[in-house]
Amino acid sequence: MGLHWDEDVVYQSQRHELYQDALEELQELNLIFSCSCSRKDLSSKPYPGTCRNGVKSNKKVHSLRVKTDNNKIIINDQLQGSYSQNLMHEVGDFIIKRADGFFAYHLVAVVDDAKQNITDVVRGIDLLDSTPKQIYLQQKLGLPTPTYLHLPVAIDSKGKKISKSLEASVINMEQPNQILFNALCFLEQAPPTEIKTYDIQTILEWAIKNWSVSLLPKKKEIVIN
Ligand SMILES: [Zn+2]
Repeated sequence: MGLHWDEDVVYQSQRHELYQDALEELQELNLIFSCSCSRKDLSSKPYPGTCRNGVKSNKKVHSLRVKTDNNKIIINDQLQGSYSQNLMHEVGDFIIKRADGFFAYHLVAVVDDAKQNITDVVRGIDLLDSTPKQIYLQQKLGLPTPTYLHLPVAIDSKGKKISKSLEASVINMEQPNQILFNALCFLEQAPPTEIKTYDIQTILEWAIKNWSVSLLPKKKEIVIN
């Protein structure tokens, strides 16, 4: 597609120490506790705080959670508008390091974004309800909060998200310029028809120059037939 990173590629598997430092910072703030609940123990949100005051002695320690508080976190999403969550009531204390030893997505995303001086996050709306958790971690770790823009996701006629994890059909890469053109149409960027046949670099240059947030569909989902 002619899309390349601006800088060297960074691998999360090589940044364990950075995530560990962030975890220790949260531990010093007395925000971390061990949790021995299994998925089976926790049928619904929010996490009921079962292990906040210590795990049951006969249970093996499973994961680490961060304590949430009763403050409302408000996001001004560049496309979706205002979105807010009370973490304590809607999510509960959430996992920061999994039982298998992996750091949770929210922690690594926050550390990576800050380390790479990311100022603008543009991603699918399926991550909008995770954003307050990330902002909470940024606040606790003294890291800046980027601006967020959550795009609608493509769904099929049955309301199922079109994604590779759900075995959507693969993109035919024979004509990448057509695919880029279609993506711009999907995002209602109104590309002129003649650029459809241009090479990918020229289409990308047009897209960078003409990208307009105000043209984006203010929706959560777009049905693809
Ligand atoms: Zn627990």
